Amino acid sequence: MSKLTTRTRLPMLFLLLVLAIAAGAVTTLIYRHVHAGDEDKPATLTCETPSNTIRTGDSQMKYNVQKSDDEWKSELTEEQFRIARQGGTERAFTGVYYDHKEDGVYRCVCCNIPLFDSKTKYESGSGWPSFFKPADSSNIETLEDNSLGMRRIEARCKNCGAHLGHVFPDGPEPTGLRYCVNSASLNFQPRSEEAPSSSSGSDTSVTRNE
Ligand SMILES: [Zn+2]
Repeated sequence: MSKLTTRTRLPMLFLLLVLAIAAGAVTTLIYRHVHAGDEDKPATLTCETPSNTIRTGDSQMKYNVQKSDDEWKSELTEEQFRIARQGGTERAFTGVYYDHKEDGVYRCVCCNIPLFDSKTKYESGSGWPSFFKPADSSNIETLEDNSLGMRRIEARCKNCGAHLGHVFPDGPEPTGLRYCVNSASLNFQPRSEEAPSSSSGSDTSVTRNE
């Protein structure tokens, strides 16, 4: 009898072992499936993120002028906010300055620092104000922009991070550069009105990190 019992128990133990392994495998598969689902979610969101989020929070922290979106909205028109603060682009031949030929300085629409001089403005035929160099290169920064499936060089105001436009290597001499700028990011000041009083830096919300 005892022999028969052992013979019966061994297959039973084997069967239990197989069931345990199978249960473990199923648990692992379920875990992996759930885990994979979690990983998919951020990837999908990233793909759906609008291109204007190239302007993310921490990259804005380095600028001297720091303002909330609500503050910018209260100071800018809807079009200026969309372009200068959200990296948008105005339609060609629609901006107020693409065919503007007065003598003076083009300042940042957000923080008022001088960005371009009318002496460096030229007719590029693009439909956007075009300059072959900045008024002061230390007032403009350039960043690689890979949005919209293109590799371009973005130009921003170095003081407040306002999106200005893009820089292309097809400009006239002496620089060979074309600063293709949105009118909405600029504020023209005629030369005659240029006052010696410096308003830059008087903004109380200016935060200096350096
Ligand atoms: Zn600015």
